[in-house]
Amino acid sequence: MSVAQPIVYRIDPRAEIVFVNSAWDEFAQQNEGTEARSDSILNQSIWSFIQGATLRGLYHQVIECARRGSILKFSFRCDSPTLVRWYDMKVAPIEGNLVEFRSTFVRERERSPEPLLKKADPNAKLVLEACSICLKLNLAGEWITIEELLAKRPMLEGEDADRLHHGICNDCFEEMRTKIEQAHCGR
Ligand SMILES: [Zn+2]
Repeated sequence: MSVAQPIVYRIDPRAEIVFVNSAWDEFAQQNEGTEARSDSILNQSIWSFIQGATLRGLYHQVIECARRGSILKFSFRCDSPTLVRWYDMKVAPIEGNLVEFRSTFVRERERSPEPLLKKADPNAKLVLEACSICLKLNLAGEWITIEELLAKRPMLEGEDADRLHHGICNDCFEEMRTKIEQAHCGR
């Protein structure tokens, strides 16, 4: 069962994570393990957790947007090995000059266990870029769904462990840019 309470974290003007709620720990416990627990991420910069120039650039714009008083909403997929799950994200300015990221569970469905989505193996030989929003995977420049990847799986055999690296696909990037523009955040 997925966490029903919204998962919330907040950053201060220096982009330090200054608050996470108990649902965060509950989710971390079920999904990521101890290194994602609040005591390991509190007082750290959000930039320690966001990889890749494109995704970082986009987060900069999202945060800037909230700091200028706008609210941004978007949906994203965050699976576990046995569940396909969708969440809604709301990024909003809140009192105290903070920016709040609030993820609300929307729905889930079960699927057969997908080892690709297990906790990252730092020794993995094959590193796949996954879109943080729709969870498509970048396979040699082409963004495909996990289901499509599984169909192509034989070509990946011999790589015993995979690792996911979070980025953003072209479609989601464009969609986010449009949302940011519609929120009148400027550039
Ligand atoms: Zn995407």
